[in-house]
Order: sequence, then C-alpha cells, then structure tokens
Amino acid sequence: MNLILLGAPGAGKGTQAAYLSAEFGIAHIASGDLFRKYAAQGTKLGLEAKSYMDKGQLVPNPITINMILERVADKDCAAGFLLDGFPRNIEQAEALDAALKKTGKIIDRVVYIKVSNDELLKRLSGRWICRDCQTPYHEVNNPPKTKGKCDKCSGELYQRDDDKPATIQNRLVEFNKQTEPLIEYYTKKGNLVEVNGTQTPEKVWLDIKAMVS
Ligand code: ADP
Ligand code: ADP
Ligand code: ZN
Repeated sequence: MNLILLGAPGAGKGTQAAYLSAEFGIAHIASGDLFRKYAAQGTKLGLEAKSYMDKGQLVPNPITINMILERVADKDCAAGFLLDGFPRNIEQAEALDAALKKTGKIIDRVVYIKVSNDELLKRLSGRWICRDCQTPYHEVNNPPKTKGKCDKCSGELYQRDDDKPATIQNRLVEFNKQTEPLIEYYTKKGNLVEVNGTQTPEKVWLDIKAMVS
C-alpha cells in the first residue's frame, strides 16, 4: 500500500505516520526529517534546504523532488511507502505521478488531516521532537514520561528552529498558497479521504485506519 499524508504544519502527520507504518509495515518517508538529517550532517543539500526551512519557506522543487524520488526507489519501499510532507505543491504531485507511472505503482489513498489554524499554532509552539528517532511530543497534549527524554529510545528532545511564532506564520501561509490546492488535485483523482484532526491522536488514528483498510 502506498499512502500520502496531507495536512498543515502541526496537523499530526508525524504522529499518525508512526501508527500507519507500524500497522501496515510500510516505509515512513518524511521530507522534513530527511532535510533535517542532511542539515545536521552538514551536506550541501542539507545546508541549502536549511536556509529555506529557517524562513518557513518551501525548499525548491528540483532538490526536493530528486531527494524523494530517489528514496521511493529504495528496496524497503517495494512493499509500500507512506509519504509525510511530500508532495507540498502541484509540481511535486505531478512529478510523483509521472515517476510512479513509469514503475507501474499507484497512490492508494491520500489522507488529509484537517485542523483549524488556532489549534495548529498551539500544537507547533508546544512541540518537542526526539533528536534520534524523530518522535513528536507535546508539552501539554502528549508529554514524554520523563521531561526532555524520548519514551521510545531515551533520545534527547528538542524544539525545532522553525517552530517559532514568526516562522510558523510563514509556514501556514505557504501551506494555504501552495499545498491546499492539492486537496482539489487528489479529490479529482478520487483517492482523497478527509479526517477530523481535532480529536485525540488515538481517535484520529481509528478514523484513518477505518478509511484506509
Ligand atoms: P506534523 O507532522 O503534521 O507537523 P506532528 O505529528 O508533529 O504534526 O504534531 C504536531 C504537534 O501536535 C506535536 O507536538 C504533537 O505531539 C501534537 N499532536 C499531534 N496530534 C495531536 C492530536 N490529535 N491532538 C493534540 N495534539 C496533537
Ligand atoms: P511540518 O511540521 O511543518 O509539516 P516538515 O518537517 O514536514 O514540517 O517540514 C519542515 C520544512 O521542511 C518545511 O517548512 C519546508 O521548508 C521543508 N520541506 C519539507 N517538505 C517539503 C516539501 N515537500 N517541499 C518543499 N519543502 C519541504
Ligand atoms: Zn526517540
């Protein structure tokens, strides 16, 4: 099964991706996690991506599309993959469609997680992430058992540079301008399902599970 998770920054894509990849045994591909990994390693791609991420802007399409299409061609994606944070605009979606067509693969479902802007702000400003396994936590909604430490791997938790109010605003504007048109794009293709993201993570997961099974 090949899936796309669509949603604004803070909608809960990373949180739901963990449930989905565990349930269906499919590879979780998070474009933002990949960019942050390369930035931490100091690679050319990573540093270039970081200059955009720090401003809350999208990384240019050629770099992003290349990175993801290479990753989707990896062996562990043969049994299925889950795209989290890609595509984020029409050009990326078209590039993905063209690449999948060549290999005879399709996207089975696009899961759109819908959350209001006020709620997104609260989620992003309270988000803490594991440096080692990227699991997201929230200081109020979903705190770790031990402050500053990941429940799953004991890794150190940190707040992302771009989870600051001014940058969050830019990211939401980018979402509305560039990513929202994908809702119509995939609705027309007939494989979009919408889930109410303003429920507990467990309830959101039950809704998603019912829609993609
Ligand atoms: P995204 O990957 O879409 O940016 P995350 O999964 O990282 O979103 O979630 C953003 C923040 O909101 C995190 O702090 C996370 O713990 C919290 N969160 C995720 N899902 C929910 C939910 N259903 N209700 C409340 N908080 C949530
Ligand atoms: P979010 O929690 O906002 O969903 P991500 O980790 O998915 O965060 O993305 C963080 C940043 O990485 C984005 O603001 C953007 O700069 C960059 N990025 C991630 N995915 C893409 C993409 N598909 N196209 C362009 N830029 C991307
Ligand atoms: Zn961890």
